[in-house]
Amino acid sequence: MKIGILGGGQLAQMLAQAGAPLGMEFMFLCPSEEACAAPLGQHLCNDFDDATALDRLRRWADVATFEFENVPASVIEILAAHTRVYPPARALAVAQDRLREKQTFDSLEIPTPAYTAVDSQEQLSQAVGRLGLPAVLKTRTQGYDGKGQTVLKQQADLLSAWERLGGVPLILEAFVPFERELSIIAVRSAKGETRCYCLSENHHRDGILRLALSRCGDPLQDMAERYVQRLLQNLDYVGTLALELFQTEHGLLANEIAPRVHNSGHWSIEGAACSQFENHLRAVSGLPLGDTSLVQPAAMVNLIGRLPDLGALTAVPGAFPHIYGKSERAGRKLGHVTLTADGPAIDAEFQKRLASLLRLTGEMQLATTMERLSAA
Ligand code: AMP
Repeated sequence: MKIGILGGGQLAQMLAQAGAPLGMEFMFLCPSEEACAAPLGQHLCNDFDDATALDRLRRWADVATFEFENVPASVIEILAAHTRVYPPARALAVAQDRLREKQTFDSLEIPTPAYTAVDSQEQLSQAVGRLGLPAVLKTRTQGYDGKGQTVLKQQADLLSAWERLGGVPLILEAFVPFERELSIIAVRSAKGETRCYCLSENHHRDGILRLALSRCGDPLQDMAERYVQRLLQNLDYVGTLALELFQTEHGLLANEIAPRVHNSGHWSIEGAACSQFENHLRAVSGLPLGDTSLVQPAAMVNLIGRLPDLGALTAVPGAFPHIYGKSERAGRKLGHVTLTADGPAIDAEFQKRLASLLRLTGEMQLATTMERLSAA
């Protein structure tokens, strides 16, 4: 089976790693010369909307997919006219526009933070009047890893926020004083079969995911599954999808979807019977879905900006580093480490090992929290 992927970053790399044992071959369309997936297949180093490259990809591939959310939805539509492309273009278009995304949640009765569209400075002050402060102002498109958004704490912040973000369509959201950030990753086949992974508890700093913990048996699992199933069906989805959620005292609120494999599911490579990557490939290529159940509790720590010493990482029992082969740069995801537990539960020993990994990656605050938990 030949798989064409739009994008050539670490998600494409891990898809190709998961597909190799299934005998799959890969072609990546990615404008970056440094695409880290490139050694695992053919690399078309062109823009996503390059007609010649798109034509080459569609002629070669049995099926096409994407790992990058900002691929123009129109490109997917062009490809879809000639070849099978999953997930569907509509899922990508919904995910690319925060307003459309929230309206989709509304139509499926999936609760979200209160929100309103903002297209002018006047509308911004009206929206703040309605939603109150604090609130989060976000660009409707192109945002990721906390980029394209700002928290408004007081009236005086409105002008600078407008000067920074205004001029493009915006959305204002009520600030959610969440208890936890969670995500659920699910997969759907073309036949409509669906499977969910157990919830991930996600910890961010500066808008970037630092730590994801698998949370098997979480009391919110059923609610999260109900919400993600509604999305999968409504979007006639094929492939892996992530739904990011806030846990509040009133239950779960949907923040956003990612119509692709997701950073908060990387623990599934070692932690689940069949990883999110393999299941995405199974879904898009028409194979039966694999078992999403947890083999052992797992956590994932991102390696961001700078790579810690590999000897120190591998010295932690149960740690599995994944180094993507990208050059170091502040804020850049260079790799991740999965930590698996020895037994069926997260225990003090696991928390101690996790704390050492977090220290190695410079996440001192999270490390201290884990140390406290392991001592309790
Ligand atoms: P996003 O790009 O929407 O995923 O936002 C990045 C991060 O900003 C989230 O993971 C949250 O930590 C925070 N955030 C986003 N929206 C809100 C909100 N409405 N209330 C509180 N925090 C938020």
